[in-house]
Amino acid sequence: MSSSACPSCGLKLPDHDGPADPYGAASPACWAMFGEVTARDYGAYEYPPVHRLIVDAYQAQHVGYATAAGRRSVVVHLVGLCLVLEKMAAPGTVGRALGAVFPDKPDVEPLVPIPRATLTIAHVHEAKSLGEQTVRGEEFAREVWRAWTPHHARVRAWAEAAASRIHGRSTDAGQKKRGG
Ligand SMILES: [Zn+2]
Repeated sequence: MSSSACPSCGLKLPDHDGPADPYGAASPACWAMFGEVTARDYGAYEYPPVHRLIVDAYQAQHVGYATAAGRRSVVVHLVGLCLVLEKMAAPGTVGRALGAVFPDKPDVEPLVPIPRATLTIAHVHEAKSLGEQTVRGEEFAREVWRAWTPHHARVRAWAEAAASRIHGRSTDAGQKKRGG
């Protein structure tokens, strides 16, 4: 059986005939493994808090800059990691904030260089229980966030702008910077 490496995370897996991700950033085999992890979240684990982190980490690690939606997606998922890991936001509140990152759907400059984290979704896939999935999911998310360190300042600014939008505060600074 032949195998290949995921172009984004480097995870080497046997070739898989399934679909790739919407932004064309993951190998079909890597995308399928992510699907198995999230299926456990939706099923046996009854949508645990760590689900948010797993999704944001995976999407922030699989970067597709070919479209404006893909360019925005990376930033939005990085903001998700920032809010939970740095700002201690409850995962259940993050979805609303992420909807406020780019309310006008602008195009954004790609964040480059794209870092490569040392953990992949395989680290989470090995979990045999909800407890393990939670620990491993957090480890995966922290590692992906760490890898993006050179871009943390910009991501924090997007996170703070989104938070002030949903809290209805019109911050002069945010407007002068044109959301940037
Ligand atoms: Zn991958």
